Amino acid sequence: MIAAPIVTSEKIQLPPPVHADGRIDIVGLSREALTAELVALGEKPFRARQLWQWMYVRGVRDFDLMTDVAKGLRAKLAERFVIARPEVSRHQQSVDGTQKWLIRFADGQEVECVHIPEEDRGALCVSSQVGCTLTCKFCHTGTQRLVRNLTPQEIVAQVMLARDALGEWPAPEGGRLLSNIVMMGMGEPLFNFDAVSAALKIVMDPEGIAISRRKITLSTSGVVPMIKRCGDELGVMLAVSLHAVTNELRDELVPINRKYPLDQLMAACRDYPGLSNARRITFEYVMLKGVNDSPADARALVRLIAGVHAKINLIPFNPWPGAPFECSDDAAIDRFAQILLAAGYPTPIRTPRGRDISAACGQLKSASERVRRFRSAAPAAEDVST
Ligand code: SAH
Ligand code: SF4
Repeated sequence: MIAAPIVTSEKIQLPPPVHADGRIDIVGLSREALTAELVALGEKPFRARQLWQWMYVRGVRDFDLMTDVAKGLRAKLAERFVIARPEVSRHQQSVDGTQKWLIRFADGQEVECVHIPEEDRGALCVSSQVGCTLTCKFCHTGTQRLVRNLTPQEIVAQVMLARDALGEWPAPEGGRLLSNIVMMGMGEPLFNFDAVSAALKIVMDPEGIAISRRKITLSTSGVVPMIKRCGDELGVMLAVSLHAVTNELRDELVPINRKYPLDQLMAACRDYPGLSNARRITFEYVMLKGVNDSPADARALVRLIAGVHAKINLIPFNPWPGAPFECSDDAAIDRFAQILLAAGYPTPIRTPRGRDISAACGQLKSASERVRRFRSAAPAAEDVST
């Protein structure tokens, strides 16, 4: 095994929700905070609901288009507030319809956000951090040097931008292009839980963007102490990046395992609130040739997850320049899947999407950050919450 990587995260100041011109950006404020802003302006609380619907149902950015708000008040709102979008520094579309946006925030930091269309629906892969403090061996995001948490505003803005681009203001009842959200972009969402939680509450609000918790999946590398809170507070679907069935191997591949080993992780999965046959945990398992893809590994996986309402998502490894792994052969992946299926676990094999634009899982990396680190010493799992 190659020596474990080193983590050198830099904490930098979060940008305030104040726009460059001094106005407050109200995207990402909770309903309560928005109400408080309006009350502070001498307005009735119900105005917050009106604004909310214009912003999150209709996608309106110009206060002048809010026709049920008196003209005088529209001017007052425009003086004090802004409904902003971050800059898109690059947009790419794959031959398979997948789209990727490189989004630049006010402080110049960038994240990627990917839309993956399917026949009658589509998922948006949303980032929670710039980079990631963890250093899973097979993941490109983990090679980024600079790490900071995204604000609720910056997380919600990814969804708003995608809806702008997909023309889904207001969103149709059925057949939405943006029907699902996966917190599987850059970063470890449970290391930025407060912001992710605030953002997802806005995204789930039935009077706004209205994507239900059943259509939102949060993927974690295994931040055990936060898993229950995620279930209790958000009730979203959980995906766990497992990738190995022994502590020895998982310590190497997913270094947070050294802090929260498999027995603790599996206990947290067993206790995840609201699980049933219809609501399963997804175990993500990246297929690495000769590393974790043998039939014995598959059988050990079946034993490990016994008693959990689970499905397993086999992810063909997406290579990136300098990556120390290869993807398993199709035959090895099929053999692995058959063992899990025979044990009664749904086992979809993920089709890589948007490979031609480097939009596939684990390939996300902002163009602004090309600094590659040498991975040489032991990592320390670090929470960059502020
Ligand atoms: N940090 C979170 C969510 C983002 S990563 C997590 O680790 O779960 C989303 C998924 O992509 C994870 O399952 C991750 O392990 C997987 N992944 C990362 N790099 C990959 C690669 N090169 N090929 C395939 N999957 C990868
Ligand atoms: Fe971070 Fe997830 Fe990549 Fe691991 S797989 S380095 S936790 S983004």
